[in-house]
Amino acid sequence: FKRLKEGLSKTSNKLVGGIETIFFGKKEIDEDLLEELEELFVTSDVGVNTTLKIIDEVRDEVSRKVLKNPEELKNSIKDKIFNILSLDNSLKQVDEKPYVILVVGVNGVGKTTTIAKLAKMFKDEGLKTVLAAGDTFRAAAIDQLQIWADRVGVPVIKQKEGSDPAAVIYDAVVSAKAKGYDVLIADTAGRLHTKFNLMNELKKIVRVIKKEMPEAPHEILLVLDATSGQNAVSQAKIFSEAVGVTGIVLTKLDGTAKGGVIVGIVDELKIPVKFIGFGEKMDDLKPFDAKTFVDALFE
Ligand code: GDP
Repeated sequence: FKRLKEGLSKTSNKLVGGIETIFFGKKEIDEDLLEELEELFVTSDVGVNTTLKIIDEVRDEVSRKVLKNPEELKNSIKDKIFNILSLDNSLKQVDEKPYVILVVGVNGVGKTTTIAKLAKMFKDEGLKTVLAAGDTFRAAAIDQLQIWADRVGVPVIKQKEGSDPAAVIYDAVVSAKAKGYDVLIADTAGRLHTKFNLMNELKKIVRVIKKEMPEAPHEILLVLDATSGQNAVSQAKIFSEAVGVTGIVLTKLDGTAKGGVIVGIVDELKIPVKFIGFGEKMDDLKPFDAKTFVDALFE
């Protein structure tokens, strides 16, 4: 909790510090105060639609005298953010092996680091974990994944640069199944300048995985960089329309005041955040828990 709180401090200063500044010395809630709040939320990357929704609800509660003073209002905002973030964030439970996680996202968002952190988490739980190097577009991506895998102590199934990523991942599924692996985490390319090719490639990967395991991939995790603010929202839309994202991993929360973006993404797309990254260390990835997150933000 302490590391999470430290990691979230910039977002917390911006959003909750901002609320406190607006409320300072105020005894009652007037329209000026609500407008200041609205502006604060938008500049905190909560997103316009979600901001308007929250402020409208608040305005209604104020007029009905449910909220009588700034202190009650602050608690109500905390509750509203908690409610928005409270989607089922657990990983899908399955009986078959391996558990296949496809990790998607644009280059630079922290995909490789996230895969390593996830692999470590599963390995620490005693699960036999293997990676698949599905970003065959860049030799550096395969090398990077291998370096991280060596650090964690898990194997990588890979082929040479330029091979068909769907074939690499298909082979990885077959091999992980044959060797009795519990978890297979597959990396994918993230070159968004060729968006259509990339989305077709991802669709093909999902199709070939299903040839071997119809229920898989069990999770398609989209890695988003919190520092990219509203860009993260458009990435979430593109990827979820193309391949049906089952969960979001929001990284780099430690380096940004734009962590409020999480609220808008979950509210608009109804995709749960399953993990958050708040630092470069291996342990700086945690399963997302709305209560802990909101407490770390507000306390
Ligand atoms: P990829 O291109 O998406 O595979 O991105 P990488 O995993 O190579 O990460 C890009 C950079 O972001 C690296 O310098 C990582 O150390 C850094 N990074 C990844 N996750 C986090 C995080 O949660 N917090 C911080 N501060 N840096 C991170």
